[in-house]
Amino acid sequence: MTAVQKIGLTLFSMGFAIWIVTLSLGQCTLTPDILSDTTLIKKEHYELIRASAAPMLGKTYTTAFSFGNAFRGAVDEVNQKFRDQQQYDKVIYDNYAFPVTKAASVGAITEYTALWFWLSIGLAIVGALMYIFPKKRLLPGIKNDHIFHHPATSRGWLGILLGTFLILFYVVLYFYPEYIVNWVILVDPISRALNGGPASQWFLYGFLYSLCILVMGVRMIIKYRHSPYQQIRSVSVMFFQTSFAFLIPEILVRLNRPYYDFKNMWPLDYDFFFDYNLNQMLSNGTLGLFMLVWGIALFVLAVPIFTYIYGKRWYCSWVCGCGGLAETLGDPHRQLSDKSMRAWKIERYTVHGVLVFAIVMTAFVLYTYFTGQSNIGPIDSYSVRSAYGFYIGSIFSGIVGVGFYPLMGNRVWCRFGCPLAAYLGLVQRFRSRFRITTNGGQCISCGNCSTYCEMGIDVRAYAQKGQDIVRASCVGCGICSAVCPRGVLNLENADPDSRVMIAPEVMVGNDMPKIRKR
Ligand code: SF4
Ligand code: SF4
Repeated sequence: MTAVQKIGLTLFSMGFAIWIVTLSLGQCTLTPDILSDTTLIKKEHYELIRASAAPMLGKTYTTAFSFGNAFRGAVDEVNQKFRDQQQYDKVIYDNYAFPVTKAASVGAITEYTALWFWLSIGLAIVGALMYIFPKKRLLPGIKNDHIFHHPATSRGWLGILLGTFLILFYVVLYFYPEYIVNWVILVDPISRALNGGPASQWFLYGFLYSLCILVMGVRMIIKYRHSPYQQIRSVSVMFFQTSFAFLIPEILVRLNRPYYDFKNMWPLDYDFFFDYNLNQMLSNGTLGLFMLVWGIALFVLAVPIFTYIYGKRWYCSWVCGCGGLAETLGDPHRQLSDKSMRAWKIERYTVHGVLVFAIVMTAFVLYTYFTGQSNIGPIDSYSVRSAYGFYIGSIFSGIVGVGFYPLMGNRVWCRFGCPLAAYLGLVQRFRSRFRITTNGGQCISCGNCSTYCEMGIDVRAYAQKGQDIVRASCVGCGICSAVCPRGVLNLENADPDSRVMIAPEVMVGNDMPKIRKR
């Protein structure tokens, strides 16, 4: 490690540590103005909460944790009364603890927001780049030295610590955002500059998500600088995340237009057909109508056409935000994907199971939208969509999907859970020009390709047989090809019928006859 890298690592650690410490800074005080602010608490809930939150008025809480817990307790007290009286329709489901805690925050973070931002996130960015850039001086070519010895990349203590942090972050983000109110305040100025309003926990998430892809994208470009495919692909995911997923939706909000990510599509964007989303698009004139038609055209036309030509890589490895994070932030953990047949079997059940769940849930939602009836037989369509949002949208895609990077590899969600990946995969497997060709006679069975396949494909097994790789799960990341020392693997598009689906009986070298499926 060079001196610059050591300084970079120190700065990154300091920035990260300060970022954690910022959670405990400042105080919170509830005032009557905050409690009666209808932009924070709905009018119909104000009277109910006012009585139980009265003891909090004027009291100073030393952390957002204690304030958030106390306010959540006040709302729970109201809800408990309704539950005791079996008045379930009056139970308050809105999360008021987050906006109220944010409004009640005073002190160091609110007064010196920019200073704390640069001392924490700013320092971490500078440190990370100082650690990454000196690697440019090494000879081009992939260096994965000591990857299975380092505790961060081999399920060691550092990997477990990182995984635990990511899992906790997602749990707090989804279910207890009031605990990270200070982190949200840190990005308030950026939010105001982009959309004209204060930041929410989702703005913070989008900001950090894009930042991780940008910084780790720079690492990808330097690490894989011998491969133009990898460089262009990294720039592509950085561009789509920063512009389409982060900047454009925020600017649309500033223009009083619906928040819309033009590259996200159903069924990954599972709430696309939810009533509030459809109503919002339909009430937004030509632009809203365009958004609706565009969203439908993406999965009806773009998926079959582009996947036929390029395979699922056009989306999973070049455009998608989940794929972008996996390919950049998750790259150091790609070798941890399970290559066993058992994992392959489980993957096929789960990923297609989630696709079926998404289709059924959406059918229920649309039935309710068009008929006005929420019950289909004994099933309540709102319960089905809540269950999907909770189990798939939050637990699977976020907590497991990203939190398990350091334990199960970087494509846990894409491989086991993403319904869009399942749909793209079906087209890729049965009607696409894409395949990875294998020049079996050159293979030395080193296993690099299988080791670094993030989707758990035993690439070497195909290479040894001289068989084309035609798998629904392959995201076309091209890393197997980039790490092969013998140039055995090539990502190609040609006539779908010319895929070599059967292993040749005899391997006779580079020019061996190939048996093609007809
Ligand atoms: S087979 Fe190769 S291109 Fe496909 S996912 Fe695995 S490493 Fe990426
Ligand atoms: S990396 Fe190349 S040489 Fe090594 S096993 Fe895979 S195909 Fe064969």
